[in-house]
Amino acid sequence: MSDLAATGTAPALDVESIRAQFPILERQVHGKPLVYFDTAASAQRPRAVIDAVSRFYETQNANIHRGVHLLSQEATDAYESARTRVAKFINAPSRDELVFTRGTTESINLVAQAFLRPRLQPGDEIVVSEMEHHSNIVPWQMLCEQVGATLKVIPFNDAGELDLDAMDELLGPRVKLLAVVHVSNALGTVNPVAEICARAKAKGIPVLLDGAQAVPHQAVDVQALGCDFYCFSAHKMYGPTGVGALWAPMATLKAMAPYQGGGEMILKVSFDGTEYAAPPNKFEAGTPNIAGAVGFGAAVDWLDGLGMDRVAAYEAALLAAGTERLQSVPGLNIVGTARAKAGVISFTLDGVHPHDIGTIIDHYGVAIRTGHHCAMPAIARFGLPATARASLAVYNTVAEFDVLVEALHGVREMFG
Ligand code: PLP
Repeated sequence: MSDLAATGTAPALDVESIRAQFPILERQVHGKPLVYFDTAASAQRPRAVIDAVSRFYETQNANIHRGVHLLSQEATDAYESARTRVAKFINAPSRDELVFTRGTTESINLVAQAFLRPRLQPGDEIVVSEMEHHSNIVPWQMLCEQVGATLKVIPFNDAGELDLDAMDELLGPRVKLLAVVHVSNALGTVNPVAEICARAKAKGIPVLLDGAQAVPHQAVDVQALGCDFYCFSAHKMYGPTGVGALWAPMATLKAMAPYQGGGEMILKVSFDGTEYAAPPNKFEAGTPNIAGAVGFGAAVDWLDGLGMDRVAAYEAALLAAGTERLQSVPGLNIVGTARAKAGVISFTLDGVHPHDIGTIIDHYGVAIRTGHHCAMPAIARFGLPATARASLAVYNTVAEFDVLVEALHGVREMFG
């Protein structure tokens, strides 16, 4: 049993039994046990997810929605059942409000093109924050260019906390959408998104939340948050790559234009005109990532089995213990010290480029990310080109932080 017991009524997670479910954690890297601190880029997969995907290919594989044969019906059931479970996981009021996409990036692009583009006039404004991932910046920049609109940016303070007073000032009459990250992948900041949604809603401005780094680490209830769009990726939450989701209320989805045209998204096609299917199918043109969706369903079942409150409590304790250990390394500076933080520790080491840190500690078996983390403006805000980033998951332990710290001492010795 872990030494990081959850407080309150929930028992602590049994981390050793969790680790045993991840085959990749058995492998060695450069002759050392793998210490995987790169979950914010992509999580590892438990046996339950790997098996669900294999089982689908071995026993049910067929295209969906169009076959009368048994395999096609079973594949359709597996795909649609995954939709139901993923929708329930974020407390969506209806499974039909959950659109499968390729991931957070595609979900945001879908909203940009299918929701906002037809509603945006030259001179209108879109507001994002300075700590967004590029996938919540570039689609809006592209749209602004297409339409002649302007992108406005909410700044954050030295700790990495959004300036909500500045946000209030930016939310003027020409703003047609506010798009904000729930948990920052670069700084770990957990933004007060319910409060942000309430303030925008009071002005009639729709809000998109980028939940890529939130859904794997805390219970997310889209109804309680009060957002208009919620976007996330399966591969950040122990599921397969190439699949993710967009949630929006049915009335919004119905009022949106289709995103892409093709099979699956139509009711009737003729050269006199085409009738679109109802949401969510209207937004799922072509053969989707069926096995990916099946694995996505298995991933949320797996997380449900752990209990998101226990996941959050374990990771909060691990973050505190890991932060304390890293702070013991001379010359180490933590970038992003918000009061509300989730499992990301960005840091620099005096006199050593982050890429060198990453390359050297790889030889200790430790996988971290170095660079701008696809959030260049957030890192530039600190006057930095790059940071090193250790990001956590339920399979990480305090002992792994000790390995990271030892590796960082090794880096310091090399750089004298
Ligand atoms: N938003 C955040 C906060 C992220 O961390 C990421 C991925 O790192 C994305 C969006 C993009 O996710 P994906 O590449 O799965 O579309």
